[in-house]
Amino acid sequence: KQNIAILCSGGDVSGMNPALKRFVEYSLQNNLTPYFVYDGYEGLIDNNIQKASYCDVSGIINRGGTKIGSARSKRFMQVEYRNIAKQNLDALHVTMLIVLGGDGSFRGLHQFYKEHNIKFCGVPSTIDNDISGTDYCLGVDTALNMIKFSIDSIRDTASSFKRAFVIETMGNKCGYLALVSHLTSGSELCLIPETAYNLNEYEQKFKQEIQNGRRYFIAVVAEGIKEDSKEIARWFEEKIGIESRVNVLGHLQRGGNPTVKDRLMAYKFITYAIDALLDNKNETIVCYTKEGFRYKEINAVVNTPYQLDEELIKFINSPKATE
Ligand code: ATP
Repeated sequence: KQNIAILCSGGDVSGMNPALKRFVEYSLQNNLTPYFVYDGYEGLIDNNIQKASYCDVSGIINRGGTKIGSARSKRFMQVEYRNIAKQNLDALHVTMLIVLGGDGSFRGLHQFYKEHNIKFCGVPSTIDNDISGTDYCLGVDTALNMIKFSIDSIRDTASSFKRAFVIETMGNKCGYLALVSHLTSGSELCLIPETAYNLNEYEQKFKQEIQNGRRYFIAVVAEGIKEDSKEIARWFEEKIGIESRVNVLGHLQRGGNPTVKDRLMAYKFITYAIDALLDNKNETIVCYTKEGFRYKEINAVVNTPYQLDEELIKFINSPKATE
């Protein structure tokens, strides 16, 4: 009987718990013994690795975060600690590893594989949706729904007062969350790091809209843009002449109970990951593309810069004045 382990690394996402449940069930179905590594790469180093059973995953499918903890590990960046991690896995006869994480976590995994040859499969898990080679990362849909809920709620206040609201979303250097939220929440302005913009070009349009009776504006801005969100709010006050407020959504975007989409994606990602390992694919990432699920070499995933979907970028509101 072979032993298989799973860990969560980097930012937690909603969908990790459903993934853990599927991991235990599908491992046992395939006659593998499942192990949990607690607190990411830190747990590998500290030997915080325990056999998992059905009991460990009961009642977690509806919960955000991750039951086994996640972490960022400075020690895992050092070769001597990766050697210890390998010794700990060997002592438990763990020969396969699944990692839920972002591109940083995959870079660590790639390094670990080069040194120790431990068979692994990565499952893209980050709300930023900024991993090259996959169109979807676990947790993104729940994050988008949390943002939608927040913007809908802010809109109630914005429309009651005459105000502009600048809503800042997470995403690191990637504008995906901001852009999709802009398109699905009907905001007037969207600023993301991937596209050039000139606020002056919106001035005439927005002033005209106020004259036509508009009472409020909603702007969705990605955290990765060059300005601080407060500067955008100041621009609304000074140039458009409307009182404004900033809302940095922050960590509420990460939590919440996983949506149906994230539960189903977790189920599928893990199923594909275990199938890959059983099929002797040694160093792959399960990617979700327009053609469906595909296995990609980790090398291609971590060494290719992420590109935001061109089709989505085209939909950003143009600053052209309307009647
Ligand atoms: P998120 O996008 O949610 O931040 P992430 O996986 O990109 O997730 P990081 O903090 O970049 O998060 O990386 C997670 C961990 O992966 C790091 O704390 C470190 O332990 C490990 N790691 C990253 N890069 C390397 C590397 N080059 N060598 C070894 N380990 C690494």
